[in-house]
Amino acid sequence: MKVREGGCLCGTVRYKVKDEPQAVVICHCTHCRRASGSAFSVNLLVKEGDYEQTGETKFLVDTGDSGQPSYRHFCGNCGSPIMTKATNLLGMVLVKAGTLDEQDGLQPRVEIYTEHAMKWHVPVAGAVRFPQAPPA
Ligand SMILES: [Zn+2]
Repeated sequence: MKVREGGCLCGTVRYKVKDEPQAVVICHCTHCRRASGSAFSVNLLVKEGDYEQTGETKFLVDTGDSGQPSYRHFCGNCGSPIMTKATNLLGMVLVKAGTLDEQDGLQPRVEIYTEHAMKWHVPVAGAVRFPQAPPA
């Protein structure tokens, strides 16, 4: 199994993902957009046990579509978004793929909240699109 490493811009927060992600998901929701300062976020869905972090993150308690809290962790020094723990995805962590050291071998297969996608965004080849959240 492949171990992937990543971290924030300033280097305070570092992490390892110790096994292949369950999924690579592009999220177009307005919260991800704001939190990333970009058009969408790319997330690795990984088991909590496969995620190992050094350095403290701060977190924002956000509210997801489900009405349940999600915890958006970011570096308190440089502000890089690192990962999110969503109450409706218990035991899983959503790692912000843009913070990985290397992007090799990670092909997004799912796009969610496409109803909020930027008008210029071209659907990603080979990815299944959901207008809102994917069915559970
Ligand atoms: Zn930092």
